[in-house]
This record gives sequence, C-alpha cells and structure tokens, in this order.
Amino acid sequence: MIPHQPDSLDDSQLPYNSVNDHENRPDKPEEACGVFGIYAPGEDVAKLTYFGLYALQHRGQESAGIATFEGEQVKLHKDMGLVSQVFNESTLQNLSGTIAVGHTRYSTTGSSRKVNAQPAVVETRLGSVALAHNGNLVNTVPLREELLNNNCNLVSSTDSEMIAFAIAEEINAGADWQEGCMRAFHRCQGAFSLVIGTSQGIMGVRDPNGIRPLVIGTLGENPVRYVLSSETCGLDIIGAQYLRDVQPGEMVWITEVGLTSFQWSQKSKTKLCIFEMIYFARPDSVMHNESLYTYRMRIGRRLAKESPANADLVIGVPDSGIPAAIGYSQASGIPYAEGLIKNRYVGRTFIQPTQSMRESGIRMKLNPLKDVLFGKRVIIVDDSIVRGTTSRKLVKALREAGALEVHMRISSPPVTHPCFYGIDTDTQDQLIAATTSVEDIAKLLEVDSLAYLTRQGMLWSTREDPESFCCACFTGDYPVSVPEQVKRSKLMLEKVSV
Ligand code: SF4
Repeated sequence: MIPHQPDSLDDSQLPYNSVNDHENRPDKPEEACGVFGIYAPGEDVAKLTYFGLYALQHRGQESAGIATFEGEQVKLHKDMGLVSQVFNESTLQNLSGTIAVGHTRYSTTGSSRKVNAQPAVVETRLGSVALAHNGNLVNTVPLREELLNNNCNLVSSTDSEMIAFAIAEEINAGADWQEGCMRAFHRCQGAFSLVIGTSQGIMGVRDPNGIRPLVIGTLGENPVRYVLSSETCGLDIIGAQYLRDVQPGEMVWITEVGLTSFQWSQKSKTKLCIFEMIYFARPDSVMHNESLYTYRMRIGRRLAKESPANADLVIGVPDSGIPAAIGYSQASGIPYAEGLIKNRYVGRTFIQPTQSMRESGIRMKLNPLKDVLFGKRVIIVDDSIVRGTTSRKLVKALREAGALEVHMRISSPPVTHPCFYGIDTDTQDQLIAATTSVEDIAKLLEVDSLAYLTRQGMLWSTREDPESFCCACFTGDYPVSVPEQVKRSKLMLEKVSV
C-alpha cells in the first residue's frame, strides 16, 4: 500500500514560494532537495523510489518526480506537492522499467513551478538522460549563457536542467556516457550531488567538496542491486544496506556489470555542510558511522558544559531541538521534560481568522504544556535562530504558560551569512545574528539568558577533521568561491565580523 498523508498537512510540509515570501516563510533554513536512484531489473523500481522519496520528504516539499527507463524508453511523472500527493498506485504502475531516478524539491534556484520540478529529462545522441540534483551551482550565469549560445532549448529556470544540457552537449559532440558526464561536471561549480539515469545504468556523483551528502546502498544478494540516496534513511525504508558514501569528486556508474568508480575530480577536498549534521538530515540517518541523533545529543552535552544555567527543567523545540535538549539535560543533571507539543496537522498561519490567533500564531504549531512549565525556570534548546521571529513568539508563549525564567540555548553558532550551496537561509539582512549582538538578540527575544554553541564545540562534537566541513553560514568563509554577481543577490550588507 502507498501511505497517504492526511488531508490537512503539517505546516512545515506546505509548499510556498520560497523566493520572495518573507512574511510567511518558516523561520528556519530550508533544505533544498532529496535525490534517489535504483538499478534493479526484476524489481518494482518506481515503487521502491516512491518509498525512498517518502523517507526523504523532509529535504523538499514543493514538488516530486520519478523517471524510469525500460530499455530505451523513458517514462516520467512529476508535479507540484508532496510525494504522497504527486503519486498514487496508478501513476506508479505506469512507471515501469529497470532503472529509476527520483527527486523531491524545495526551490533555491528557479521559482516554485511545475516546469522546475525534477528529474530533468533531456534527449541526447545516445538516448534520454534523466537528472536529479541536490545543491546549487554558483556559475549559473556563465553556464546558462554558454548553453543558450549553443542553442540549447532550456525550458526551466533551474541549474539542474543546465547540468543535463551540458551532459547532452558533450554526448552529442561524440563522447560516451562516462566521458560526456565527466566533461560536463568540469563545467559546473558549486554544490552538486546528482543521480543520473540513462538506458544503460545510473550514476551517482558528488562535487569535489562533497557539500551535499549521497550514499550507496545494496539490495539483495544474488544478484546485488544498487541504490543511491541523499541519506541512509532512504535506504532503510526499502530494506537496502548501506555500502558507503559517494566520495567528493567521485562518479559511480552502476550497470548490469555492477558498480564502477571514477574519480572525476583530482582536486577534491571534503567540505560537508555542517548544517546537515545539526539540523537538515533526519536524526535516524547515519553520517560518519553514527546516527545524527547521537551527534545532536553530543552537541547538547557540549552546550551544557559551555553555557550552563540554573534552572528546573530542560525542554527542546520539537522536533529538531529535542536530541540536543536531551543531551543538555544529561550533562547538566537538570531534568528533561516535554514542554511543547507539536500540532502536526495545522494549516498555514495566514489562515488564522482572529487577531489574537495571529498574534499567538506559534500555538498553531507548538502548544506549551502549562502544568509542566508553570512556576519553573526553563532552559529551552533549539538548533538555530535565523530571523528570531519564531523564537520570540515561543518565549512569549512559555511565559504565558507560567515559566518563571526562560534561558535559551542554541545548538549551533550564530548564523551570520547566507548559503549559496542549496540551502535557503534568507538574505543576509534577514539574519538576526548578522546585524545584532548576542546580548541584543537576548533583549529582542525577551529571554533571561541566551547562549549559542561555539564553532569549536560544534566541530569537536563531530569527532572528525574540523577542516572537512563547510561552516560558511557561521563564518562567511565559502569553500567554493561565490561570484560577486551571485553574492549580491543575498549579501545585502557589508561583510560582518564574526
Ligand atoms: S553555507 Fe551553511 S548551510 Fe550552506 S553548505 Fe555551508 S554550512 Fe551548509
């Protein structure tokens, strides 16, 4: 059976125009995309991809799509909406084949329109290519000009379609699949984790810095079938076993003869997005041999050591602040309790009919438990503050529920710079920590104290080489240089010291 979402959706799942809608956009960085691919003759590849995308739904909720290959023939279904809204038993039945590529999207390049949904399918001399992309290119302007000068018929406004056309150009110039794709990747700069389907097999690719994750799994034993997914939770849901990560600068080519690896970039240097660890990826996904739940508890413990507070209770902001809150409680010895209950099936805040509902809009999403909070000094742990609007409402709601003191602890450093690699983090002038000191943010939020995790604490808790992470939204130190033209679109202020 295909699981169905209830008619009324979680607010965080509802699509909205992410490009301009500052009023209604969530006060959190938004993940950009989830990609999935499978090579499995004899299996129902469309349905397996559906379930993979279902597990990756948190990475993008605006549109979803699956392309399948049956011999030379490609079949495609994509539309706006959640995975469970875009597909049903009958659309999946029509997607027959031995190879499938799937995508779930949140728009960071190109607006929220059906034409921008993925996979992007482009014709080449060797047949169709279907491409699913997670990340953002930073050289879209020159690449687009180049492609248009070569008479490419770009139909969408996404950088993902540009990569597909760049591959088609190389193939049409005489290259085979591997060579053509690798040549095209050299024309791309920025963040790209790709799953590419052709009639012969699927490819998994990461940019030279491996900014966005991509893992390989195996399904069955004899013969072994291969699966590609943005996160391990996409493997778990279909019973696939985690094999390994696609390495930065690597391309894996999966065909009837098995898996072949090519290191297409010799200049690779890992810079995994640290926000994948802190917040974006699902807590049950595994990175660096442990679940992100475990990492997030560890940063909570570190936060307690760095920034203690005298209090009676530790609570977390559901869902993403919970593991760090539990860690904070463990290290501080202050009891953990659920102080906020998430209402999972509410509509968007703009439909609230009365002024008092609009003012207390946060309660549409999170309702404080009065008998837990009343008369208590409370430590509230969240994973990040972007604009601060939600945090302020939360603090007010906690006080109205009877909290005597509210101490806010954030399990990441202050976000001072926007992301150009596939995460929607607002323009710099919208980021509260870009313009305001921690002391002044505490005043604006009306908390008794506020502290962020230090960058050292965040990196130490990974137990990995600190140099192997992108931390640019905390430092402005971008691992792939961002052209001024692109920067100007989001960097509204002069460089801020951090
Ligand atoms: S700038 Fe921030 S959100 Fe973007 S990739 Fe780097 S760490 Fe991740």
